[in-house]
Amino acid sequence: MNVSGRDPLQLPGDARLPIGGGMSRRLLLGFGGVMVLGGCASKGATSAATGLAGATNPGGSTTPGAGTPTGSSSPSGSAPTSRLSTGGAPFPGQSPSGSDTSSSASGTHTGDAPPVAGHPQFYVHEGDKAIALTIDDGPSSKYTPQVLELLAQYKIPATFCMIGESAEKHASLVAEVSAAGHLVANHTWTHPNLSKMTAAHVTAEIERTNDAITKGGAKQPVLFRAPGGNWSPTVFQVCAKLGLRPLDWSVDPRDWSRPGTDHIVSTVMGHTKTGSIILEHDGGGDRSQTVTALQRFLPQLLEAGYRFVQP
Ligand SMILES: [Zn+2]
Repeated sequence: MNVSGRDPLQLPGDARLPIGGGMSRRLLLGFGGVMVLGGCASKGATSAATGLAGATNPGGSTTPGAGTPTGSSSPSGSAPTSRLSTGGAPFPGQSPSGSDTSSSASGTHTGDAPPVAGHPQFYVHEGDKAIALTIDDGPSSKYTPQVLELLAQYKIPATFCMIGESAEKHASLVAEVSAAGHLVANHTWTHPNLSKMTAAHVTAEIERTNDAITKGGAKQPVLFRAPGGNWSPTVFQVCAKLGLRPLDWSVDPRDWSRPGTDHIVSTVMGHTKTGSIILEHDGGGDRSQTVTALQRFLPQLLEAGYRFVQP
């Protein structure tokens, strides 16, 4: 699709998807103007990654739960930063085991039903210097192969959060990503805002995507990432029912907004620390800046002693 020349407020990550019913874009008012947000990084990049505890405001954006030290939860949509910026515990609200679903203090567990998460996973817990790289909104015939080549060059395992309709269209890339040792996660069929959807609708988005991913040759996903980080208690319930762990992120350079390669690199290098889950995009629009940024920051992270794990 051609996304060049697009209104900068209309994010490429969502632009190719049906816009309607407020599902793909949302308005955030009162933070210095009106922002039309969407895509993977529609959340305020400065949000603290404290336990969300299912807190979803009427605008559809997730907000940090109680215990946020600074209360800096406003989705400002401004400068890209890490969601680690409020300090405090390195892995807020999460167990050191890496299992963020069943151990959630704020989750619920009733009867024989699988445990329902109270928040998504923001960090990995694999020891000193362990971090994770996640690549969203693909697969893309243009950018996914370029990303795969870089990951192979640096021997970095990543997690690809794929959109179902793209996975169906590019089934061979699903197989290629999986065969290269990367994880394939479910990122819905149409990339909608799930926060106000019914369980049936959320389930349909997820199940159809699981089918496309498995038909493409990847394993049944065990990870699910909500588009834009728009979680809800309903989404957590559906994830539990379908055996999926909700996965979020903690370092967001907002690469989808094409802020310039320097900006993507400096944001990643400035905010990554042990446990970080970095968010990048290989689909949904022109991702040439992302590819160039990966080319630069992946070796820098390795040189800094980081090692890549999968959530
Ligand atoms: Zn996305």
